[in-house]
Amino acid sequence: MLNSNFKHIFLDRDGIINSVVMREDVVGSPRNLQEFEIRDDFVEFYNQISEKNLTLYVVSNQPDIRRGLMQEDTLIEMSNVLLSRFQFAEILYCRHDNSDCCACRKPKPGMLIELLHKFGIEPEDALMVGDSPKDIEAAHAANVKSVLLKTQYNMPYAEAKQPTLIVNSLSELFRSLEQI
Ligand SMILES: [Mg+2]
Ligand SMILES: [Zn+2]
Repeated sequence: MLNSNFKHIFLDRDGIINSVVMREDVVGSPRNLQEFEIRDDFVEFYNQISEKNLTLYVVSNQPDIRRGLMQEDTLIEMSNVLLSRFQFAEILYCRHDNSDCCACRKPKPGMLIELLHKFGIEPEDALMVGDSPKDIEAAHAANVKSVLLKTQYNMPYAEAKQPTLIVNSLSELFRSLEQI
């Protein structure tokens, strides 16, 4: 159960805010602005929580630049689209790939820990929302509670790294937040 009074929501980007892009049955990220589609479910969620005193942040793995599949400018334009429509206190991207062994690529908790430190957030006041076991694992490592959005493409996750809550939609998450 979500039984704390969350003030800060850390959002994964792809699959939560915007749609994922399926390429030959592989789940991927948008690589151009045409592919960057904001999800209706997120817009609804954003409007629903607007009167709550919540601060939103984005923490997103974006290895496609490193892989030569996307331009840095495109990623910045995507952020501009987000900031033109929504209020996010911070948008953090990990631009690395696995081989870089960085501390920020989820499931590592680097981006979450950076937000906790930079904004003086207590881990129990934050909630991570994502659609991947990597999001949930990163939340565990940062001592932050987590919500997994159930999708057709969710990868299996380790028993020990269960999300605090699993929801079928962001409106279901909103209803859970209402109960606290
Ligand atoms: Mg995702
Ligand atoms: Zn990184």
